[in-house]
Amino acid sequence: MQLKPLLERIYPLHRTLASDGLDEALRIVGEAMPASAGYAIETYRPGDSIWTWRVPERYVVHDASLETDRGQRVINFAHNPLHIVSYSLPVDRTLTWDELEPHLFYCEERPWAIPWHFNYYQRDWGFCLSKEVFDNLPRDVRYRAVIRSEFLADPNDGGFRVGAGVLHPEGGPVSGVGELLISAHICHPMQANDDAAGVVTAVEVARRLAENPLPPGSMSVRFWFGPETIGTIAYLAHNEDLIPRLKGGVFIEMTGNNNTIAWHHTRQHTHLLDRITHYVLRNMDHIERNFADFPPNDERVINGPGVNVPCISINRWPYDEYHTTDDNPGIIHEEMLQSAADIVEEIVRIYASNFIPKRKFRGPLFLSGNDLWVDWRENFDLNRSYEKIMMRFEGQHSLFDIAEEVGLDYWVVRAYVEKYRVKDFIEALPIPSEAPDF
Ligand SMILES: [Zn+2]
Repeated sequence: MQLKPLLERIYPLHRTLASDGLDEALRIVGEAMPASAGYAIETYRPGDSIWTWRVPERYVVHDASLETDRGQRVINFAHNPLHIVSYSLPVDRTLTWDELEPHLFYCEERPWAIPWHFNYYQRDWGFCLSKEVFDNLPRDVRYRAVIRSEFLADPNDGGFRVGAGVLHPEGGPVSGVGELLISAHICHPMQANDDAAGVVTAVEVARRLAENPLPPGSMSVRFWFGPETIGTIAYLAHNEDLIPRLKGGVFIEMTGNNNTIAWHHTRQHTHLLDRITHYVLRNMDHIERNFADFPPNDERVINGPGVNVPCISINRWPYDEYHTTDDNPGIIHEEMLQSAADIVEEIVRIYASNFIPKRKFRGPLFLSGNDLWVDWRENFDLNRSYEKIMMRFEGQHSLFDIAEEVGLDYWVVRAYVEKYRVKDFIEALPIPSEAPDF
């Protein structure tokens, strides 16, 4: 599917923690997700406790403007939602330049661009504008600053929302095998790469997994979209029973700009998921970072204290247009979105189809008598390795570990070991959960 047209529908919306624009973006994602994912929107009540946080109110901006006392309008929110600091308090005041200036934000490095600022929790009010406009504002006049904003705490006014769907492997979900979580945040107003790009890349992975499902016995794959950090906290706090079932996570953002792929390790750093990511990227230029290095995101929640689901982040950071009006569809490339989806898809296919083979037989298996012998004329490398593979069914090595140890392609090893499973010589143990008791 072409992803940039989908991104262009999400991009212009006033998406913030909870807002009409965010709801609309969640609805558009629902339309694009495969029907088999059973995508649904969950709504939470503003003010409710979620671990050490609170569900934020819904934010409505009726209008906002900055005018000189001579009637010259210098900022109009209707032209660009980046013009106000997200979650600005309502204001209607006449101010001198000195009183106004602490409430104005611009970007020194990109003087033509409007930066995006937010202040969700230590609430104040502010306007964002280009440095060029800022420099030309008269200092000797008074200004009227107007922000007509509202914070809606009543859940009947829409509440706080996230969207999620789950794709099962061929044959349906298998109890105990668990799930892999793919997530992307959808909340930045009028930002294309951060993170409408990650959202559409995730949607593409979902469509591919619906079209070509994971093999029977694989993990299910859960797709999640919502506001950054607080959305993930709200979702996991409302679905705590899910945490021990989550075996891994892939957070996706900033996948559309023209840069090499980058990834952040899990908090475990050398987890199976890290090694699989390494394996998928082995022949590609890539940037590698530690867990929670800049830019840190929802993986800090997913892989954070008391949750601890190993979670990598996939992105194309850095890019200079970050958090400004220059992060727009002009910097987004279809082939970048698609190649990020290729990478995530391969990581997901390997991680979710991986299992730990546990022997049910005693003594070296009678391979030729059971059609498990590999003819060296057909597959020389596998012929050299089948004994080594068969010796590693003690319930300690996953298929990926075995492939790595014998130096063979994961899919070759998986196809071969699957024959043992079908003949009931091994049991497929699931990848263990890293979730702590609390
Ligand atoms: Zn951001």
